[in-house]
Amino acid sequence: MASHKQIGHWINGAMYAGSDSAKQAVFDPARGVVASEVALGSAETVDLAVAGALRAFKEWANTPPIKRARVLFQFKNWVEAHRDELAMAITSEHGKTLDDARGEVQRGLEVVEFACGIPHLLKGEFTEQVGSGIDGWSMRQPLGVCVGISPFNFPVMVPMWMFPVAIACGNTFVMKPSERDPSASLLMAQGLKAAGLPDGVFQVVQGGVVAVEALLDHPGVAAVSFVGSTPIAKAVHARATGHGKRCQALGGAKNHLVVMPDADLDQAVDALIGAAYGSAGERCMAISVAVAVGPVADALVARLAQKARSIRVLPGEQAGAEMGPLVTQAHLERVTGYVNAGVKEGATLVLDGRGQRPVGHEKGFFIGPSLFDHVNPSMSIYQDEIFGPVLSVVRVPDFEAAVALIHGHAYGNGVSLFTRDGDTAREFSNRIQVGMIGINIPIPVPMAFHSFGGWKDSLFGDHHIHGPEGVRFYTRYKAITQRWPKGIRGGAEFVMPTMK
Ligand code: NAD
Repeated sequence: MASHKQIGHWINGAMYAGSDSAKQAVFDPARGVVASEVALGSAETVDLAVAGALRAFKEWANTPPIKRARVLFQFKNWVEAHRDELAMAITSEHGKTLDDARGEVQRGLEVVEFACGIPHLLKGEFTEQVGSGIDGWSMRQPLGVCVGISPFNFPVMVPMWMFPVAIACGNTFVMKPSERDPSASLLMAQGLKAAGLPDGVFQVVQGGVVAVEALLDHPGVAAVSFVGSTPIAKAVHARATGHGKRCQALGGAKNHLVVMPDADLDQAVDALIGAAYGSAGERCMAISVAVAVGPVADALVARLAQKARSIRVLPGEQAGAEMGPLVTQAHLERVTGYVNAGVKEGATLVLDGRGQRPVGHEKGFFIGPSLFDHVNPSMSIYQDEIFGPVLSVVRVPDFEAAVALIHGHAYGNGVSLFTRDGDTAREFSNRIQVGMIGINIPIPVPMAFHSFGGWKDSLFGDHHIHGPEGVRFYTRYKAITQRWPKGIRGGAEFVMPTMK
């Protein structure tokens, strides 16, 4: 492995190879070979990064918000100029198609654009004369060193959900990317430096469990943003808050798309195909359950099978690719295991993607689209997040049964309803216990100036991520009451001050 490219950390404005003894292979998923090796940060590396971020905090927090915004404007320009380089870094380690990777960069960039408005976003509230000759106001101040821990499936967008808002608010930031696709984080670090960000304000520590636990336990860390699977999100939230840190931990998902009998079936089928199989199903907002209401099921399944069969499964960088490989061999085996389980549990496998590989890429981590019909809620393919190109169709008799099905699931990230009836749509949006809802929209990811987050087992903590919720998460509220009296005012007061 020594001959592979080595991927290290970014500390105090420069690449840092570190002396971490642990390393992990990073794969080229389309070819199924090791492409590079990433350092797994030790507690010492974490300490170095946090110490640098703590040193940089005071000056950065005191930098006027308008100047912080100017750095982000420069970073926005840098991202636009390096869009393709970032997209290629994503595709080569994650496997998703290049067009999809470009889309990911764009959705991350929109958070940078939002964060450029930080002088306006940080404005507090002021009340003149809260008492006689007394004024009161509130303001929001940065927390200190904030940490971001991100999943493999969006190596640019998910970090950008976090650090642009955190540093715009005046915090310094330590990013711990996924060890499965670590390269994009170093490109972003270089871009921030080129944009004029002072050294130490943005650090990258590569690694896995050891680095995460050292960050969660570090007394110099004030807040943690985590995005990943539910069991880890839950554990991270418990450990970080146990140390008195602020924490938002976004977890996994099982998103349903309900097709009502009055829906436009062509629209619903296209929506399901893109949302279930795009990015090979490795999206937290992917649709993995189609809920067919009443008589719609037979036609829906037939059309889904026909369209899914023609999806072009190719290496992500190849022209015409609609679906790339999965991220690793281990993940491929996990997803294949779920298809096997679905068959065993008695669901009808309408389309079997197992073993589908593009010619010349027999070692790549590919699997084709799979479609199950007659799935019932007790099956593991319904209960668990598969995170692969496997769509389950559950047949229900009516709208009430669809709502009950969704409410019975542990996750509550995203959900979608396809209907032509406004009354049904309004009732659904109003009643459904899920954080993000799409009406005739399959993947309802909120724009950067709103906030993103699920309910139930899809999020632990009090704040959704980016947008206004991000500003609240990365700042502390302070209230000030002030007067400037002249002369002596009648001595000490021993009762609660009130307005008479
Ligand atoms: P993961 O939970 O395996 O890893 C996420 C992060 O946690 C990585 O940085 C990893 O290094 C770290 N980690 C892994 N095991 C750990 C442990 N035992 N202790 C401490 N840290 C650990 O998730 P993943 O496989 O990289 O990503 C896919 C998951 O992320 C899916 O469940 C998906 O739904 C979820 N996700 C959620 C959202 C959302 O917004 N809710 C967005 C993207 C992805």
